[in-house]
Amino acid sequence: MRYSQTLIPTVKEIPADAEITSHQLMIRAGLMRKVASGTYMYLTAGQRILRKIIGIVRQEMDRSGAQDVLAPMIQPLELWEKTGRDVDYGETLGRFTDRHGRGNVLTPTAEEVITHIVAGEINSYKQLPFNLYQINLKYRDEFRPRFGVLRSREFIMKDAYSFHADPECLEKTYRLMYDTYCRVFQRCGLEYVIVEAESGEMGGSGSHQFTVPCESGEDSIVYTEDGSYAANLEKAAVDPLEKQPPIDNAPAVEEIHTPKTGTIDELCQFLNVKPQETIKTLIYSAGDETVIAIVRGDHELNPEKLTQALGGQHIELADEATLEKGTGAATGFAGPVGIFDKAQSVFIDHAIAAMPIGVAGANKTDYHIKNVVPGRDFTLDADNIKVADIRNAVEGDTHDGKKLLFKRGIEVGQVFKLGTKYSKKLGAKFLDADGTEKPCLMGCYGIGINRIMASAIELGNDKNGIIWPISIAPWEVIITLAGHDEAIISAGEKIYADLLTRNIDVLIDDRDARPGVKFKDADLLGIPIRITIGKRSLAEGNVEIKLRTESESKNVPLDKAAD
Ligand code: ATP
Ligand code: MG
Repeated sequence: MRYSQTLIPTVKEIPADAEITSHQLMIRAGLMRKVASGTYMYLTAGQRILRKIIGIVRQEMDRSGAQDVLAPMIQPLELWEKTGRDVDYGETLGRFTDRHGRGNVLTPTAEEVITHIVAGEINSYKQLPFNLYQINLKYRDEFRPRFGVLRSREFIMKDAYSFHADPECLEKTYRLMYDTYCRVFQRCGLEYVIVEAESGEMGGSGSHQFTVPCESGEDSIVYTEDGSYAANLEKAAVDPLEKQPPIDNAPAVEEIHTPKTGTIDELCQFLNVKPQETIKTLIYSAGDETVIAIVRGDHELNPEKLTQALGGQHIELADEATLEKGTGAATGFAGPVGIFDKAQSVFIDHAIAAMPIGVAGANKTDYHIKNVVPGRDFTLDADNIKVADIRNAVEGDTHDGKKLLFKRGIEVGQVFKLGTKYSKKLGAKFLDADGTEKPCLMGCYGIGINRIMASAIELGNDKNGIIWPISIAPWEVIITLAGHDEAIISAGEKIYADLLTRNIDVLIDDRDARPGVKFKDADLLGIPIRITIGKRSLAEGNVEIKLRTESESKNVPLDKAAD
């Protein structure tokens, strides 16, 4: 390509609304432009990178026997109602009604549609297994789009769905996809860690996330130093804390007036106590049922763990009315004493069971109670009351006795064993060899194409711009014409033609601009190899070759340059 004929609008200034390096550099290098919040248009250079990534993903998926398909972007809401995910996805699900009054969904993922189509096509175990994948746009009305394409509303996903007759077969494909993902991320030049994950809205029994470690990532990776355990924060299981010795003759509970202390911080300030000396009571709704969850004031409830403890039921924080009905108090004043009969189930975090005494809400607006002794003032054990791990891991926690460490990362891909959640609800059944009808077992596998691009920039950049792994660079080589002499132009054109015949992705910077400007743009764009044709070296029959990763260039004879 000729630079003079492309639209690569590089800019010097850091865009004001771009918080992280990859977002800044994607704008500055002219890879894309913002259209609206969480919506971007890719320009030539950006689109070329996406195509490279997609090429790698497609090659590796094909190599693993998956089949390329294409599902529609707009899907009937009806299918989503069948699985209940119209509710689970909540406002993240983009919807609209068409002129005939039919509800539609802008696909955030495609389990429903793919399973629905497969249901109509299979009837025998002999047709299984198979694995269908697609690479296309997805839409999620993210609550807070940010960090450029890392959390955008529209993005490109590779999503795959496998169908099986038995668990061994699912396991085999799951492992195959796991290995395929390793090859994809390796070929894209990414450093990555694989962590155990919760399957969340997807449902199912097992999942791994592929995460690129970096400071600006939104995910927390929790791991042990010896590498024996790594999980994301939603999943990371913590050992119960050691039970603290009980307080001798602990005084009886005492109600205290604590006006305007609806948050733990306000309460701690008012009473001059530490957050870890307080007991936080949260009320959730799970369908028609009420669930009480109790964690220490300094801990954060983990909704995924709570969902798991409930056997996978979808939960939501109770609305004001449910809360008031259950506790008789406004938000912020719920407590564990005397309300367990208001809920169908109660989950108490291990850390609460280990606490000798604490301050809790009094179930009365503007009041708390102190001297609350878990096990004395509220029971820790009954049919519907359980002590469990329902909070996020924090610094100081252990797993299997080993200290947990934390780092941040970007989730670039995830694999799931789905089981029969979708096949049962959408009727994807088959007759097995023994003549019985069974729902298919399914797996699903996603990769965020745009996130690979942004992660690669987070990992590869310096003060001058991006440093691409050559496998996904927009161009492998840039030929910089440092001057307007006929000799310079013809030498550049010769190398350009030569590289093109060798199928090298090459950009020739033939703009009417100063060499300094051209060098800056080449660095900003992060092109791995720069061939500079300048007057002085050309006089000696040489051109200069410089790698983006190195500061020095070296002279190479003109006729050897393309080699
Ligand atoms: P997150 O937890 O970051 O919201 P997710 O777990 O909901 O992501 P999946 O349903 O697993 O996402 O989708 C598969 C892949 O799609 C993710 O691993 C990620 O790389 C990509 N992805 C998901 N949401 C977005 C988004 N809003 N913007 C860009 N890529 C996304
Ligand atoms: Mg995910």
